[in-house]
Amino acid sequence: MRLHLRPVYTRPRQYINSDLDSKKINMDSPQIRLKECLLSTLLTFLLVSNVAVAVSAQASKDSAETALTNAISLETIRETTAALSADDMEGRGTAQAGGDKAAQYIADRFAKIGLKPLGTKDSYLQRIKFRESEILPESVLKIGDEALKLGSEFVFTPPTSSEKHTSGRMVFIAYGIVSSQLKRNDVGSGSLQGNVVVMIEGPPKNVDKASWKKVHAQSTIISGLVRQGVSGIIFVSNGTEEHPYSETADYLTRRQVDLADAEEVPEFVPPFAMVSNAAAEKLFASSGVTLSDALAKAEQEHFTPIDLKKSASITVRLRKDKGAGSNVVGLLEGSDPVLKSEAVIYSAHYDAWGTTNGNHVFHGAADNGLGVGQMMAVAQAFAASATKPRRSIIFMAVTGEEYGLYGSKYWVDHPTWKLKNVAANLNFDGMGTEVYGPVGTLVGYGADHSTLGELLGSVASTASLKVIPDPMPDEKSFYRSDHYSFAKKGVPSLMLLGAPAGDPKVWIERMKTWEKTDYHQPTDTIRPEWNWEGPKTVAVVGAVMGMRVANSDQMPSWLSASPFNRERGTNAAPPPEP
Ligand SMILES: [Zn+2]
Repeated sequence: MRLHLRPVYTRPRQYINSDLDSKKINMDSPQIRLKECLLSTLLTFLLVSNVAVAVSAQASKDSAETALTNAISLETIRETTAALSADDMEGRGTAQAGGDKAAQYIADRFAKIGLKPLGTKDSYLQRIKFRESEILPESVLKIGDEALKLGSEFVFTPPTSSEKHTSGRMVFIAYGIVSSQLKRNDVGSGSLQGNVVVMIEGPPKNVDKASWKKVHAQSTIISGLVRQGVSGIIFVSNGTEEHPYSETADYLTRRQVDLADAEEVPEFVPPFAMVSNAAAEKLFASSGVTLSDALAKAEQEHFTPIDLKKSASITVRLRKDKGAGSNVVGLLEGSDPVLKSEAVIYSAHYDAWGTTNGNHVFHGAADNGLGVGQMMAVAQAFAASATKPRRSIIFMAVTGEEYGLYGSKYWVDHPTWKLKNVAANLNFDGMGTEVYGPVGTLVGYGADHSTLGELLGSVASTASLKVIPDPMPDEKSFYRSDHYSFAKKGVPSLMLLGAPAGDPKVWIERMKTWEKTDYHQPTDTIRPEWNWEGPKTVAVVGAVMGMRVANSDQMPSWLSASPFNRERGTNAAPPPEP
């Protein structure tokens, strides 16, 4: 699953595309947001309370479902996860040799299972062109005469798509806000052209996030500064960030990957950097104001810019390259002469973070070798079943997820099956919570948007599993994996998370610890204490859900209140991301 970094780091192009962006943000009024939130809470509540009703009403599984359930192989999940997370898969990097090796492994298994190729040119593979870039160690951020250390003291933040050298006198502009409503003009009356501005990402502590989004979006501020001709932007922390500097720096110093045809950042955009707290002190050293005093001033109305009385010089050096990777797509044809033109798509991303120049392999066992293993077990069980489902079933192992859901985005933009005929997407991805013990709890990300939520409730009750609403809404997981690419295109979609029974606090705490130590790190490996019955349960639930979708007369539908309630295959702009 993708990391939830601040949007300014993950969607940089939006932050310099002022016109488009401000229109988007105007739509996102506090009233609309409030309504949506209330509705989704209400819907979740209704769904969850339905589970109890469903338990008593639930008939036992029919024989085809029982056969499918019995055919789910724990060994397939374990074997696939082990193979994909082994050293020789080199972390399955997007547009790296290890990624291609993993794609071939998955394609070979699809062939063995008996799936038909549904990539391009009669193969299982759908080739995707990527471009990549990496910040070189020769890159410099100099404060006066002192060069800060790349990584431990500063990193460049996106967009850093071309080599640059700039310099300018540093001015601290707090949040950079100009607003009569907030009684602030952080940038003052003078021109900032040629200055390197030092600033905090908003909102200020006394401004709520919703009104910040509506009235003073970060994008408007950044765009305004870029238009004014600042020479560079350096972000300092005020301690409200979701991730500490070290964690963000870890990601931002990694190789970056983008779709080859993605829009380039315009050449006039200056370099953006962020600094550690210790380095931030150095920025203020000659100004007569300490960093903490400056941060305190930044929270006050009528803030005025602070001249830091030193220059910063910024040199960006990049290695840039082109590459390619593949989605792997296989098809099991349905048995109904009419309905077989429609399909259920299972997806799981097989990419992890590849290798780094330090020769670390990012094994990606939990994220997401496990998910591919679960999908493989489902594929095998469907292929082996005597009664084929009425609709077709597509199995899709995608690449590029960790960098921005690129593989699934590419497929929905270049589908190898008509999007109008995609009944639903069921996605396997997560943080490995399903191996913490026997699974007794399920979360369906997307459950509150479509009839797949109700379906999950009824399948779960058959297996005496409890469905709970997203216990970590702040993590915004619905937006962080490949089912979201399908949702944006109007295809009802859902990601399954499995966890032990009992108080969610217990497994959430374990997951949070894992998140700090192993998530997206070389240490995401298979552990001896993993309980493999857990992922098997998740695979069983996914399989039965897919079978019911495939056999039902009607395709699943969006709930009318969902902002994703649009036609399959829509090209309309998606609802704004939170
Ligand atoms: Zn991930």
